[in-house]
Amino acid sequence: MNLRYLMPVRLLMGEDCLFQNRSFLAELGKKAFIVTGRSSAKLNGSYGDAVRALEANGQSHVLFDRVMNNPTELCVYEAAAECRKGGCDFVLAVGGGSPMDAAKAVAILAVNDISREQLFGLEFTRVLPLAAVPTTAGTGSETTPYSVLVDTGSPDESRFPNGRARDERAFPRKRSVGSPLIFPRTAFLDARYMIALNKTITVHTAIDALSHAVEGLISIRANQLSNVLACESISLIRDCYDLLVNFPGPEKFPFELREKLLLASAAAGMVIAQTGTTAVHSMGYQYTLNWGTDHGRANGLLLAEYLKLLEKKEKTESPAGPRMASVREALGMNLDEFAELLNKLLGQREQASQAEIEQWAADPFSSRSAANCYIRISGDEVLELYRQSVCQPGRKNPTEVEASK
Ligand code: NAP
Ligand code: FE
Repeated sequence: MNLRYLMPVRLLMGEDCLFQNRSFLAELGKKAFIVTGRSSAKLNGSYGDAVRALEANGQSHVLFDRVMNNPTELCVYEAAAECRKGGCDFVLAVGGGSPMDAAKAVAILAVNDISREQLFGLEFTRVLPLAAVPTTAGTGSETTPYSVLVDTGSPDESRFPNGRARDERAFPRKRSVGSPLIFPRTAFLDARYMIALNKTITVHTAIDALSHAVEGLISIRANQLSNVLACESISLIRDCYDLLVNFPGPEKFPFELREKLLLASAAAGMVIAQTGTTAVHSMGYQYTLNWGTDHGRANGLLLAEYLKLLEKKEKTESPAGPRMASVREALGMNLDEFAELLNKLLGQREQASQAEIEQWAADPFSSRSAANCYIRISGDEVLELYRQSVCQPGRKNPTEVEASK
């Protein structure tokens, strides 16, 4: 048996866990660079708790609260400059996947004077210590070694030396920095920060976590430990299916379920930390980049159709052995039922033109992660998956197709 498993993040979960375990912030440094989004961290209490914990430790901080959804490389370079200027010696991420991913890049760039290509090329050996406080339950960024950034393609001399023209069609792109150095040292999981999360963000982020766990099961890098975590993550999310569909309102969504989603997300992060993701993620990036679709929703648009395709192909080609039975078992339903569940969660789908679909399918970037799955898919299949996952003029909405079965 061959197995590799690395999970160096200390996980602390529970109400008020940040303040109660503030000694784990004390060991990181003297001055924190807090990285958050524009407003939610101040409203949900997480930023206030972070400041309270730091002050009780005698630590000072600088706040950077300008991380947008799907952070760009420009944003993290700007933040890193402020981190240096402020003389901060560690980074504290407070927020959803966007601030957590931005914070990881800041931890690198604050101590490495490197270009964007060197950043994505992992040309660094040292980072600032980092801790994370997730305020959404989906990306699991608190337990992954990835920072996903939008590369806007703004001019970067190191990348285009001698004035070589840039290929405008290649941008913007979602690109990942993946390095064990950017695992947070500690993640503080407190579901109280999620109490006011609305239906849209709750559902979309839950789909992201579910997608991570399922994509982990079908990854060629899956192993016994990642599978256990994936199944546990899916099981926790299954307990929430009903109330995710019939969302009773933010405050009425049971706190125990908020905690289950938060743990499921962290566990699914541990899964993709080992396995990586598949074509669902790389294909879904096109929706986010072109339409601004929430990341989790983008995965949800593709997940059931992708699994159905694999199920069909598994019957004829499965070099790594059949896996769909374990996926169905983990989901607790067959794939038609799963497609129906996703339809209920996603509602009306976005409409794409034939030209858009063809353009995305022709872009090698879309199927970048396809090779990570135990069954490969062809270019034609990528095109067909795009077609099936969205509405097209003159075609029935996939939601209606499912409903009429
Ligand atoms: P997000 O982009 O971090 O946040 C989405 C929205 O939710 C923002 O408007 C944010 O407001 C708000 N928000 C966050 N926490 C809230 C709370 N507790 N209450 C109310 N509103 C809240 O969304 P996300 O889905 O968590 O992260 C998506 C990003 O993560 C994408 O860039 C994706 O590529 C990346 N990702 C990374 C990994 C990884 O392994 N690193 C894995 C999957 C996805 P504010 O802006 O005001 O905070
Ligand atoms: Fe994701």
